Amino acid sequence: MAKMMIERILEIMNQYDRIRNMGIIAHIDHGKTTLSDNLIAGAGMISKELAGQLCVLDFHEDEKERGITIDAANVSMIHNLDGQDYLINLIDTPGHVDFGGDVTRAMRAVDGAVVVCCAVEGTMPQTETVLRQALRERVRPILYINKVDRLIREVKLTPEAMQARFMEIIKKVNQFIYRYAPEEFKEKWQVNVLDGSVVFGSAFHNWALSVPYMQKNKISFKDVIDAYTTNEENAREILREKAPLHVVLLNSVIKHFPNPKEAQAYRIPHLWHGDLESEEGKALINADPNGPAVFVATKIVVDPHAGEVITGRLFSGKLKPGMEVYLLKDNNNKFRIQQVFISNGPKRELVEEVDAGNIVGITGVKDCFAGDTVATKIMQPFEEIKHIFDPVVTKAISAKKPGDLPKLVEVLKQVHKEDPSLKIEINEETGQHLISGMGELHLEVIENRIKREKNVDVVTSPPIVVYRETVRKESPLVEGKSPNKHNKFYIRVMPLKPEMLAIVRELPNQRVNKFNQDLINALQKGGMSYEEAKKVKAIHNANIFVEATRGIVHIGEVIEMVIDMFEDVMKQGPLAREPGFGMKVVLEDAILHEDSIHRGPGQVYPAVRDAIKQAMLEADPVLFEPVQVMQFEAPSEYMGAITKLINAKRGVVLNIDQDEYRAVIEAKLPVAETFGLSAEFRSATGGRGTFFVIDQLFEMLPFELQQKIIKQIRDRKGLAENQL
Ligand code: GDP
Repeated sequence: MAKMMIERILEIMNQYDRIRNMGIIAHIDHGKTTLSDNLIAGAGMISKELAGQLCVLDFHEDEKERGITIDAANVSMIHNLDGQDYLINLIDTPGHVDFGGDVTRAMRAVDGAVVVCCAVEGTMPQTETVLRQALRERVRPILYINKVDRLIREVKLTPEAMQARFMEIIKKVNQFIYRYAPEEFKEKWQVNVLDGSVVFGSAFHNWALSVPYMQKNKISFKDVIDAYTTNEENAREILREKAPLHVVLLNSVIKHFPNPKEAQAYRIPHLWHGDLESEEGKALINADPNGPAVFVATKIVVDPHAGEVITGRLFSGKLKPGMEVYLLKDNNNKFRIQQVFISNGPKRELVEEVDAGNIVGITGVKDCFAGDTVATKIMQPFEEIKHIFDPVVTKAISAKKPGDLPKLVEVLKQVHKEDPSLKIEINEETGQHLISGMGELHLEVIENRIKREKNVDVVTSPPIVVYRETVRKESPLVEGKSPNKHNKFYIRVMPLKPEMLAIVRELPNQRVNKFNQDLINALQKGGMSYEEAKKVKAIHNANIFVEATRGIVHIGEVIEMVIDMFEDVMKQGPLAREPGFGMKVVLEDAILHEDSIHRGPGQVYPAVRDAIKQAMLEADPVLFEPVQVMQFEAPSEYMGAITKLINAKRGVVLNIDQDEYRAVIEAKLPVAETFGLSAEFRSATGGRGTFFVIDQLFEMLPFELQQKIIKQIRDRKGLAENQL
């Protein structure tokens, strides 16, 4: 069976119009895993009886125990529509928002996403965040409304009430699509019952329906309800026979998701900023198998036998074992590809060659991170993959046994490769390393992985918040002088306006070395003039660097060094060496020594670094703290207990939605106050409530806490009193 499957896959792999690359995204517990297993079983990868019990895609120990899917893995499978085989490359994506990073990375590899939404619960906070991540990568959504069996059996809805419930969910999802989709797709990507971009069913009972399928096969809402009310055992059988979930849903996938070539035509210009008229530009736009091979890594697993196993999307060309490729970063190191394979859950099937447009795995390339570009020629790499949330919680981590010291360094490098949304600072001297993630739970999962999978016993500190440094007013023009006094840089720093900040926060870190229309458009939308937008030379941690000098002959020779220092200060500001946030740094003028020997890094670096730091200090600098917008839900009688808990944690209630049974409260809480929240919330609600993170913001730390926290951080970092 497996053999046959692989042969059928190989047959279609080079026919782009018969390929669909898709992901499944959902709020936790809405049925993503059950649905994935179902699709895979339906497509013949595992037996039907096992589907739902055997979690093919959940294979980390940790995931099985927690019952949540953490890592994105992928599977290739075949679906036959109207006598034609199609290849569906399915990437599994996690449901927990603390690991939102995996969803973002997976979205780079796919062109379509099935949004799973539970019919009983309706849209939930993560339905919105995962959709937002998909749409940002120009991934087209369709909607699958799951657990319809519960709507009938438990909620006992009539056909009319059931349809009304669906309409409510569809309306909500379409609002999200309208809000987050790129302009040209806001209307076009709206989901619709009539055209089959909305499917509903039960992943548990293996059936699903869409309006086109109902019409074609003469099935009505009443049939579904009757099936459940007459004889449940039979009902499942009948529906499963008449409308197998994988058939109905994959039909819609094939119809509504673009093939890789169609998708690349509109995705490439936004994900890759090279010249679209160049050889590689044309190959990328056309998913051309005869162009240079260009592959973007979306997931790295460090395998004890095979080493770094890299999964990603091949956007153009072909990949074969033995081929020489460059990893497009730093020194563009060259590697030889050892193996090329397609994934079958945790299993790898080796292949001789793959064509553009597929999701594939490779080995042989070292030090590759998710988001990196691997290609057969040296060229412009893809845009960095930007996560929607930043790492805002840090823990110190060290080995329990001194003998494990070197091993821990290795393991930390591995987990960083596997999950680049982490930030890792290794300190080989003290053996105390820092690991930062998106939340307390995120770090807990990583810690467990280090202990259990990588077999290193570690101790960690309590979690620490990562703050941001910013300014509240415009600085005067500050002069930075080089140690030899022959070079001077004139720098001004100012806060970004809220409209601009909202836009810049969404932009990945980058240096701008050629005209980038997309970026200019974005900056203009934030209120910047076209003239100034053209002078933006770098973006780092939501800060902008503008090169606004005029007529300085040698500026081009030092500008990279100036940007090095812009990035340096935006990583570690003068208040407490915390990252910068929401600032515009402008180089207005410069005086440079004629002779390049006298304007090397030893001269330029200190001059620029000190000037930026000094300008920040003269612009009313303050600390901002990370704040999470959260949704709490519990039976109404706990409403008072929940608001009390929120107030005790410097929280602000934003919205309350309450009926006689349930209360849904949206509130904003400083991350510093969220440590241990799970346990407190559980006891406040008798274990009957849930909460989720919806968004992450940075807000000014209250005045009365500023000096105290700055001192705490400086002490922790061992900074001397006047050390910037
Ligand atoms: P995930 O967190 O989105 O991956 O959700 P799971 O697939 O793990 O499903 C969460 C729970 O809902 C499990 O207990 C499933 O058995 C159950 N479930 C999933 N789909 C359905 C469905 O269609 N009907 C019912 N009644 N339960 C379902």
